[in-house]
Amino acid sequence: MSEDSRTPLRVRFDIRRRELRVAERIQLTPHMLRLVLSGDLEAFQSLGFDDHVKLFFPDPAGEQPVMRDYTPRAFDVAKGLLTIDFALHEPAGPATQWASQAQVGDGLHIGGPRGSQVWPDAFAHYLMIGDETALPAIGRRLENASVGQGFTVLAVVESAAERQEWVTQAEANVRWLYRTKGDDVLTAIDALSLPADTHVWVAGESHWVKAVRTRLHDKGLNPKWIKASGYWQNGEAGAHQSLD
Ligand SMILES: Cc1cc2nc3c(=O)[nH]c(=O)nc-3n(C[C@H](O)[C@H](O)[C@H](O)COP(=O)(O)OP(=O)(O)OC[C@H]3O[C@@H](n4cnc5c(N)ncnc54)[C@H](O)[C@@H]3O)c2cc1C
Repeated sequence: MSEDSRTPLRVRFDIRRRELRVAERIQLTPHMLRLVLSGDLEAFQSLGFDDHVKLFFPDPAGEQPVMRDYTPRAFDVAKGLLTIDFALHEPAGPATQWASQAQVGDGLHIGGPRGSQVWPDAFAHYLMIGDETALPAIGRRLENASVGQGFTVLAVVESAAERQEWVTQAEANVRWLYRTKGDDVLTAIDALSLPADTHVWVAGESHWVKAVRTRLHDKGLNPKWIKASGYWQNGEAGAHQSLD
């Protein structure tokens, strides 16, 4: 397999700002809220499962809106629908506050995605590890995976009540780990038996992601094929860290 066939394809898009409205509100689990937004999605593109859009919220203290990153969980350009899943957390920042109170008809400005990174389906196996904020990307990836692709997922959530069901054509081994039960992701990684040719995607709290990445290196997985991102950071608002 040549290196080229494994290089991710990067695509850039013109950024458009859009005003969408809440069309539907679905409480997926106690801490995961799905909002289906509707409006003009003309030329909206998102090719990568871990793309993000910017959500804009008015900042009462300043003139500039505050922005937060969220994954396009699903979209239908023809119908003008975009689905975003919000992991509701404490302390709640502007995104969580807005989402938890959002009612059908409320408006939301979004921008992007600015671009997509598309990994080729060229690996023997895919390992995905994440916390609640990573579940939209993992769910989207699994739902769009092809027959015969192999996935191992370690999904770390508070308790069994936060478990989601994903429909996939791939061979997926999804393991849920519960913080309230003391499940440890590093121990779960040690116990995995993976093909050498495994691509890894990790996202979640930044410090946690770094510890996971170190353990993956210790396990002998090729750092080149590990994509690790800090989707938020303990004690810091609006943090996004690309770790590779
Ligand atoms: C590329 C990308 C895609 C993302 N996709 C999603 C997505 O689809 N769904 C989703 O829910 N999140 C997603 N996130 C994470 C989300 O952007 C952050 O959690 C964001 O900080 C939430 O904004 P907020 O206004 O609620 O809180 P902030 O104002 O950013 O933070 C307020 C406080 O809450 C803490 N905090 C932030 N997030 C969490 C959390 N998840 N759990 C516990 N404490 C937290 C912060 O440390 C801070 O102390 C994504 C992040 C990135 C970078």
